[in-house]
Amino acid sequence: MWNPCPTLGNTGLIIMGKGRKCCVPGCNSNYNNTDNYVSSFTFPKDATRKNQWEKSINRTDFIPSSTAVVSIRHFSSEFIIKEDCVVRDDGSELVVPRKIQKLTNDAYPSIFPNQPS
Ligand SMILES: [Zn+2]
Repeated sequence: MWNPCPTLGNTGLIIMGKGRKCCVPGCNSNYNNTDNYVSSFTFPKDATRKNQWEKSINRTDFIPSSTAVVSIRHFSSEFIIKEDCVVRDDGSELVVPRKIQKLTNDAYPSIFPNQPS
């Protein structure tokens, strides 16, 4: 039996809605009908974290709808889980690349390339 690796856990956010348009101002992720969809994430359900996302995005009077997403471009790589880590019975760890990327539990958008700083 394998247990989820405690450092990554198994409760990160899951990518939602392939091809949904990113709600960050100035970002055009998924605004074109191409096959190159950018991975995107819905807002956290937790109110405190949702608030942190909203503040980070800094869009005037912005109230994200339940379907609003933020594309992966706005998350620094330390918040993106690209591999799963499992612990074998003998204590050794096995790292498996994920097909679908997740965000860590403390992830928030911090990269806004098209905004004046
Ligand atoms: Zn975006």
